[in-house]
Amino acid sequence: MKVLVVNAGSSSVKFTLFEMTDQSVLCKGLVERIGLKSPRLLYQRVGEAQQEEKLAIVNHHGAMQAICHKLIDPEQGVLKSLTEIDAIGHRVVHGGEEFTEAVVIDTSVKEGIRKCAALAPLHNPPNLDGIEACEGFFPGVANIAVFDTAFHQSMGPESYLYALPRDLYKKFAIRKYGFHGTSHKYVYYAGCKFLGLNPETARVVTCHLGNGGSVTAVKGGKVIDTSMGMTPLMGLVMGTRCGAIDPGVVLYLIKNGYTGDEVDVILNKKSGLQGVSGISSDMRDIEAARNSGNTDAQEAYDLFVHRLLNYIGGYYLLLGGADAIIFTGGIGENSNSIRKSVVNQLAVYGCELDGEANKTRGQQIVISKPGCKLVAAVIPTNEELMIAREAINLVK
Ligand code: ADP
Repeated sequence: MKVLVVNAGSSSVKFTLFEMTDQSVLCKGLVERIGLKSPRLLYQRVGEAQQEEKLAIVNHHGAMQAICHKLIDPEQGVLKSLTEIDAIGHRVVHGGEEFTEAVVIDTSVKEGIRKCAALAPLHNPPNLDGIEACEGFFPGVANIAVFDTAFHQSMGPESYLYALPRDLYKKFAIRKYGFHGTSHKYVYYAGCKFLGLNPETARVVTCHLGNGGSVTAVKGGKVIDTSMGMTPLMGLVMGTRCGAIDPGVVLYLIKNGYTGDEVDVILNKKSGLQGVSGISSDMRDIEAARNSGNTDAQEAYDLFVHRLLNYIGGYYLLLGGADAIIFTGGIGENSNSIRKSVVNQLAVYGCELDGEANKTRGQQIVISKPGCKLVAAVIPTNEELMIAREAINLVK
């Protein structure tokens, strides 16, 4: 069984082709700079060097066509024919309240995704373009939508409602949705397996720390709470996003002459690590600057850790105690410094850092000392594999 996983964004289409009998990757790549100058295809067959090809593409249909050509290229491809593909799994950012799990795409599902575009105007439309391009190139093959928001749909109203007039929820569906659901779900189940926890009963705090970041409290496979909100702007301090702030700040800025669009740019693109440090949105740069004594970088780092601890502490309580805390995403998998700063504050929950284990990067590892009441672990995320698994489960 072969599954193609497609992640169509506004200016790129990423893809991975899996052989699901052993869940191995056959090839992967992306078309980037769609709709911009000098688009290109990056392509890598497993175990080989990445290749680059210049393209003259204008849209997602052209991007998908270039990918299809590559997959069946007699010299560089991995397939004899596109009909060898059994299912296509699509990452879709927003599934609103309608989609609580992955679904096989038909006309009504596409209509649902289109409706949810009101909540994710930058993401759902290109996701749909990717789906429609695949429908054209792979006639008769099942397309499956896997939603970033779906895992979080198990939250109860005490966690997803905002304390706003109920009308706003009814009229505009204003509520918390949460994002990175596919990653949180993957590391929850992979973490339970790795740590010998029963996924039906485990209580786990999953920390996805990348350019964007979110924390989720999961109990028995159900989400109790998550740090992102109606949009991915809420919660943790991120690369360029502010995370949780007093909404009064927005009102204040607008009353002082900033336009809505200007505030949008400030909160989404000029805040977070970038905004506070004035140096970079990249944690590696923040760590380097902090190590050389830059106090703004130090404050950005401290704010990142402080905010994360706020959520971890709250979620520990909501879960009624936790069995494990899991780190994933670029920062979670690679920054032993951030992990150390966080885990050193968890002694009160019975978690003590194993400094040697914490030096490891990018692989599944327990980073707390043996016998700790709360186990800390790193589980590298694999959203593509999770999407492929969801797709194959639905076509089986
Ligand atoms: P995205 O959310 O775009 O998928 P990633 O999950 O790739 O992002 O995470 C990117 C973040 O991971 C960046 O802040 C980067 O600095 C950080 N990161 C990657 N490697 C390291 C490292 N060795 N030490 C600290 N941070 C790292």
